[in-house]
Amino acid sequence: KPTLMTVTLEKSVEDFVATPRQLFIDGRRVDAASGKTFATPNPATGQPLAHVAEADAEDVERAVRAARRAFEGPWSRLTASERGRMIWRIGDLILEHTEELAQLESLDNGKPLAVARAADIPLAADMFHYMAGWATKIEGNTIALSVPGAAFHAYTLREPIGVIAQIIPWNFPLLMAAWKLAPALATGNTVILKPAEQTPLTALRLAELIAQAGIPDGVVNVLPGYGESAGAALAAHDGVDKVAFTGSTEVGRLIVRAAAGNLKKVSLELGGKSPNIVFDDADPEIAVQGAADAIFFNHGQCCVAGSRLFIQRDRFEQVVEGVADIARGIRLGSGLEPDTQMGPLVSAEQLQRVTGYLDAGRGEGARTVVGGGRHGEQGYFVQPTVLTDTRPDMKVVREEIFGPVVVASPFSDLDEIAAQANDTTYGLGAGIWTRDISKAHALASKIRAGTVWINCYNVFDAALPFGGYKQSGWGREMGHEVLEAYTEVKAVCTRL
Ligand code: NAD
Repeated sequence: KPTLMTVTLEKSVEDFVATPRQLFIDGRRVDAASGKTFATPNPATGQPLAHVAEADAEDVERAVRAARRAFEGPWSRLTASERGRMIWRIGDLILEHTEELAQLESLDNGKPLAVARAADIPLAADMFHYMAGWATKIEGNTIALSVPGAAFHAYTLREPIGVIAQIIPWNFPLLMAAWKLAPALATGNTVILKPAEQTPLTALRLAELIAQAGIPDGVVNVLPGYGESAGAALAAHDGVDKVAFTGSTEVGRLIVRAAAGNLKKVSLELGGKSPNIVFDDADPEIAVQGAADAIFFNHGQCCVAGSRLFIQRDRFEQVVEGVADIARGIRLGSGLEPDTQMGPLVSAEQLQRVTGYLDAGRGEGARTVVGGGRHGEQGYFVQPTVLTDTRPDMKVVREEIFGPVVVASPFSDLDEIAAQANDTTYGLGAGIWTRDISKAHALASKIRAGTVWINCYNVFDAALPFGGYKQSGWGREMGHEVLEAYTEVKAVCTRL
């Protein structure tokens, strides 16, 4: 049975959820122009956790004006070094508030508190620390021209794009905000961030820490609200120079259409159906644990979840049984229960969606080795699930489930597996488990995905670029590659 909350909440967290939360525009907390609010539920209970102001088009107007003023005004007058120091300070403040942010994240998203403490919060801080260093290292080139009979001095400048709308999902609320905000700030842009309606709390707290770090008013604005209203208004707004989106491929397409009006720049980090490939020469213990972690981490609510598990034929039964054993042993409960290894899914919609896929899988003839349904009657818990006997055309094999559900199938050899792994419209991540280094790299080069992990999975680092091939997205986040997503290049050419 799911148990509920035994951790003592910090006073600041109790106060934060007890007080209706406002929008953050131009350095101030303000009500929505419409006066509307919405409730963000506690996914472990389904009960309202906090009430939050609901932004829509009018608030978007205000925020875009504030972001433009800041872009042309105070933010552009700071030196790169001053900007970098403020961004570094945001990272420090996140670390100083680790417990508070982790508790808020666990309450709002449902993830185990220990995971939020160990992963979400420190990784978010690290992103600001990493990007702080880039603020002073954004450089252009000098370029030799080949125009006959004339001398030129030519160079490029990298300049900020301007006012950026950032729309993020609910699976790693603070971390997704950090992935988006840190590079936008390091490159000198201003931002309107729309957190997911399911998980607005840590982004609102982060806005306060950003102000505390000295970032001028209007540089970062946070607008909680719904996708169809606030999100759509941001994506379509003529005063927005770029929209950066993370979420479903379906909504990614809507963003592209909305952006067509003023042809704003677009970067997208979308869904996945990532292959995780276990060769028969892999260390069995490490591969089994790795395959389980690849799908069950964050309850499978990861865009890179290793949701298609391919196992070389001789080891098929052994690996499937090993992963199923791990699944059976996973303790489900409220994120705030210290023993919890897997919390609830984020919302009633996700619960319905994931259990809908489980029914569809059964209906199409898949075999449920373990799990297969909802867990308990309160909250949005789903049993960790392993499915076999699938065919490549089944819904559970083709579509992103975004829950703790893995489909396992056997393969014969290296040539066959590359084609199977690439038989998807997505291309976000992939895993390879083998002791044969040549085989690993040969396969890595054949896989059409933005990240390939060898003998590991879900390793994220601010220095490692991340993003998708095919319908998994446009552009890269993190690493120095992300600087390209937040800058325009200007060529300056002088006749001497
Ligand atoms: P979603 O794509 O609907 O939501 C992501 C963000 O987009 C949210 O902030 C939402 O408010 C906003 N949004 C929704 N409609 C919009 C619109 N028309 N215009 C502008 N913004 C809009 O994702 P979801 O409904 O929360 O989850 C559904 C599925 O999306 C999941 O099951 C999963 O497959 C996928 N997903 C992927 C990721 C990822 O990291 N790639 C993250 C979350 C969800």
